[in-house]
Amino acid sequence: MKEHNHSFSRRDFLAMSGTLAAGSILPGKSSSSHESKQDMDPVIDIHQHIFYVGRTDDQLIHHQKTMGVTHTIMLPAGSVQYTQSTHYGRSNGLQAQAGGNKSCFDFAQAHAKEFSFAANEVPDIPDAVKEVEKYLQMGAKMIAEVKFGLSCDSQELQRFYSLAAEYGVPILMHWQYETYNYSFPYFYKMLEKYPKTKFIGHAQTWWANVDKAQQDHPWEMYPNGPVIKGGITDRYLSDYENMYGDLSAGSGLNFFRRDEDFTKDFFTRHQDKLLFGSDCSDLVGEGEACIGAQTIALVRKLMPKGIERKLLYENAKKMFTL
Ligand SMILES: [Zn+2]
Ligand SMILES: [Zn+2]
Repeated sequence: MKEHNHSFSRRDFLAMSGTLAAGSILPGKSSSSHESKQDMDPVIDIHQHIFYVGRTDDQLIHHQKTMGVTHTIMLPAGSVQYTQSTHYGRSNGLQAQAGGNKSCFDFAQAHAKEFSFAANEVPDIPDAVKEVEKYLQMGAKMIAEVKFGLSCDSQELQRFYSLAAEYGVPILMHWQYETYNYSFPYFYKMLEKYPKTKFIGHAQTWWANVDKAQQDHPWEMYPNGPVIKGGITDRYLSDYENMYGDLSAGSGLNFFRRDEDFTKDFFTRHQDKLLFGSDCSDLVGEGEACIGAQTIALVRKLMPKGIERKLLYENAKKMFTL
């Protein structure tokens, strides 16, 4: 929707109100649901990567700003390893040339107001826990992105689940059938075994399994058409307090567009457990090329203001104490 002429960008507004200190403007206090006010609302992106498919730091900063994101959590890859969990090297760098712990930490330190960082490591190397713990002690907001070729109940991943609970941070997992984090239908065993660990689900197998029919074709990554209620993901979100969802990536957007009536109901039912992430590698941060911008637009189109605020900002602010 085109904005009205009388609306001002936050920058214009700040420039005009010269007598006010910038800190006295509280963007989160916007109470109007008027379209033109949305530019002033804060948005937290819980899922971005550094050096993503060759993107520079300046391009990343520009992308996040254009998308309207006010705070971003940077998710590192593990170190370069040739183990079973990295598919003997194929999945290094999260299979997206993403940078590791030190790069994310240094970048977040240099831009502390707008960026935080997570901690990660290849789980099946001897010092994995030590490396993750080192960054948790330095202030990492979560363990992520856990995208490795291991069963979700493997001893290696269970060490990460314990560590997450110990440090009071969530763990974000990329679910992709027979590629990353195996045995999704049995994940409830981990949800029950680690009730103090907050798990955040993401990616193809996570979103496809909101649909009950996915169990008949678990290999499908981007299924289309109406969604049948009662899928595994929906049940995990309903039945387990410690299960959350990350809206990011093409898999999220594809799912939300499948069946908008279902999506509205889904967002309403799980409004306290869903968090916006972009996970897009484009350079523009707006329009058709940007998955994050389209996801934000879709949430705003489908949901009333109260739920929109929870999904794009409040749930993440609370979970990560930002
Ligand atoms: Zn992912
Ligand atoms: Zn984008």
